[in-house]
Amino acid sequence: MKTDLLQDALHRLHHIVKETGISEATYQALAHPSRTLISSLPVRMDDGSTGYFKAYRCQYNDLLGPTKGGVRFHQQTDQSEVAALALWMTLKCAAVNVPFGGAKGGVTVDPKLLSAMELERLARAYVRANADFIGPEQDIPAPDVYTNARIMGWMMDEYEKIERRKAPGVITGKPLIFGGSEGRESATGRGAFLVIEALAEKLDWQPFNKTVAIQGFGNGGYHCARLLHHAGYKVVAVSDSKGGIYSKQGLDIESIYQEKQTSKALKAVYCDGSVCETVEHKVITNQDLLELDVDILIPAALSNVIDENNADKVNARYIVEIANGPISSNADSILAEKNVYVVPDILANAGGVIVSYFEWCQNRQGEKWSLEKVQEKLACYMTNAFDTAWLTTQKHKIPLREAVYKQALLRIESAIEAHGTQNYFTNGD
Ligand code: GLU
Repeated sequence: MKTDLLQDALHRLHHIVKETGISEATYQALAHPSRTLISSLPVRMDDGSTGYFKAYRCQYNDLLGPTKGGVRFHQQTDQSEVAALALWMTLKCAAVNVPFGGAKGGVTVDPKLLSAMELERLARAYVRANADFIGPEQDIPAPDVYTNARIMGWMMDEYEKIERRKAPGVITGKPLIFGGSEGRESATGRGAFLVIEALAEKLDWQPFNKTVAIQGFGNGGYHCARLLHHAGYKVVAVSDSKGGIYSKQGLDIESIYQEKQTSKALKAVYCDGSVCETVEHKVITNQDLLELDVDILIPAALSNVIDENNADKVNARYIVEIANGPISSNADSILAEKNVYVVPDILANAGGVIVSYFEWCQNRQGEKWSLEKVQEKLACYMTNAFDTAWLTTQKHKIPLREAVYKQALLRIESAIEAHGTQNYFTNGD
């Protein structure tokens, strides 16, 4: 049976609330999503028939600002998953100090079975169903699993047609020409890379003797792999939804990416210009990849890939969560006993929403920032969030996940307080 992702996320949250001395009232404020719009999207298929697709938009909590979060197209997406992801967006924005609440959207569909035209009609249908629910000051969608800049462009265009005005700030992760930001495409991978670099500095690591395995070669996984490879780390394994490749000597990430763009397959190759040759490698499964004896394991695909059934088989020393929720709550303690150090998703993959925030600011101000400015500001936000959490781990001897949650929850707690709580009325003037 599929795990109820929201229940699992709340279970972990409650545990951390108790461990870190956050008030029960704050937990209660986060124990249920504010609202979810569920719709059935009619889409004209290429053969003339009409397909119906179940769609969700969950606005979890808006205490810190308009709600923010991506829209995923995936065959396993359901209401509970979308709500859990929206809760994590709430915590993520709070943890890295961007003035947004949390939301998430999803359509239950296998996007690989749709043509480009069907995909466009689906994206537009999603916006028609949600047009009264979203908005630049209300709720701002973005890319997520199997959605990209092109799809965000269609969504923004549909919204503007409905509203009869320009409204680029309604969606982030758009094409540059529609008001997208420089550096948004690579932001999630770069953010994770910056966290690894910050950790390396604390632990005095030398990149050249560190091995890395990355599950998932989508946007986040690829850019992080590319930056790590460039910085001298040895990326020994990568995978996609069909399986993975392993090479003890390390893989040439750019060549693999180039090959995947043309043949759609993940192949262990080294390319010189357009000529690629296969390099020595082993074909592995996604499960094998999770069990590799590497320094850093980066799950960058889907949720719950490490749970109580396989957590004890993990051999990596560090896990950096680029995917949202790749570790189930009951695997946390198993990994802790094995001394596996986990950099949690709401910090490791926050680069995407941070640059989404920059994109939204640029749209509101009618500005266009340079790539240098975006990358410099992204580095500031990521390192500030990491350094604050790191200090908390040292001071209170708690895991990094608890420290990051604590800094998010303290901000949410302050917002609840400022809105007026019992204390406010009894102790205030
Ligand atoms: N989908 C991304 C995430 O999970 C980005 C969200 C955004 O940019 O709003 O963080």
